[in-house]
Amino acid sequence: MIDSYQRDINYLRVSVTKRCNLNCSYCGAKNEASEELTPAQLEKIVRAFARNGITKVRLTGGEPLVRQDIVEIAQRLAGIDGIKKLAVTTNGIFLKRYAAELKRAGVTAVNISLDTTDREQFRSITGYDGLDKVFEGIDECERAGLSPIRLNAVLTKGKNEDQAESLISIARNRKIDVRFIELMPFSSDGEKDELVVTGEELLKKFPELKPFVKENATDFEKSVARYYTAEGFKGRVGFITPVSNSFCSECNRIRLLSDGKIKPCLGNSEVYDIKAFLDDEERLEQEIKKIILSKPREHSFGCGYGNHHGLNLIGG
Ligand code: SAM
Repeated sequence: MIDSYQRDINYLRVSVTKRCNLNCSYCGAKNEASEELTPAQLEKIVRAFARNGITKVRLTGGEPLVRQDIVEIAQRLAGIDGIKKLAVTTNGIFLKRYAAELKRAGVTAVNISLDTTDREQFRSITGYDGLDKVFEGIDECERAGLSPIRLNAVLTKGKNEDQAESLISIARNRKIDVRFIELMPFSSDGEKDELVVTGEELLKKFPELKPFVKENATDFEKSVARYYTAEGFKGRVGFITPVSNSFCSECNRIRLLSDGKIKPCLGNSEVYDIKAFLDDEERLEQEIKKIILSKPREHSFGCGYGNHHGLNLIGG
C-alpha cells in the first residue's frame, strides 16, 4: 500500500515474543514472561496486513525461536494469501534444531545476529557461551536450503570493533552476506553516539570492498543495506546505517510488536493497539490501513532516547 509519503509499505516485521535466551549488553532484552499473541491471533492480524498490501513478513523478537509454537506460527503465516516471502531473524542458538522444520513450514530466508567470532567475547556480550551453537545453526541453515543466509553484526567502540575483519572473512569464504548495523540508541541507559562504528569508518578500513550493484533487483532483493563485495568473495558485505545516514524515504516497513501493538516507525515512539478489533476482520483491516497512512516521514532518534521501546519488544 502506498503511504502518505509515496512509499510502498509491503514489509511487516512481527515480533512474536519479548523473551530472549540471551542478554546482549546493548539490547536490554530479559527472559521474563510477557503478553504474547497466539498463532491464531497472529494469523488474523497478518491476514489483515496482507489485504493492505503486505507481501513480506519477518519473524523476530526477543528471540522468536524461544516460542515452542514457532513452527506453527510460521506455517500459518506462510499460508496467508498474498504473503510471498517469510523470513526469520534469530540469534541462532536454536537454529540447529529448527532450521529444517522452519524451511518445511514455509520460511525461506534467515538473518542471524552475530557480533563476534571470538568465543569469550561472545560470552561477554550475550551472557552465554554459545558461539559454537550459532555456527552449527548456520551450517544447518545451509543444509536445509534456507537462502539468503545473512549475518547481522553490531560493532561497538571499545568492545568488538576489532571483529570487523574476521566477520568479513565469513563473506569471503561462504555464500553468506555479512552486514554491519550501526548501534542505535535503544538501551535503557541510552547508548552514546561515540560508541557507534559507522559504515563509513568501516569502508575506510577495507578499501578492497567495492559497491555491489544488482541490476533490476526485485522488490525482495531491495534492502536498507548498501552492499559491497571484493574479488573472490562468495558473499557480500552490507552496511545498515540508521544513525549516520537515514533511509526513511525508502522505508517500506511496519512493525507488529509482541504485545499486539503496531509501530509504524522504528525511530518514533508512536504505537497503536489493534487487539480490540481482533474479532472484526473488516474493522481490523481498516484500522491497519489508517495506521499505515500515519507512518511518519522520518525517524527521530534525537527526540529523547527514553521515548523509545526496547529493541527486544520491537524486534529490530
Ligand atoms: N533475537 C533475535 C536476534 O538476535 O536476531 C531478534 C531480535 S534482535 C533485537 C534483532 C537485532 O537487533 C539483532 O541483530 C541485534 O543485534 C539488533 N540490536 C539490538 N539492539 C540494538 C541496538 N541498540 N542498535 C542496533 N541494533 C541492535
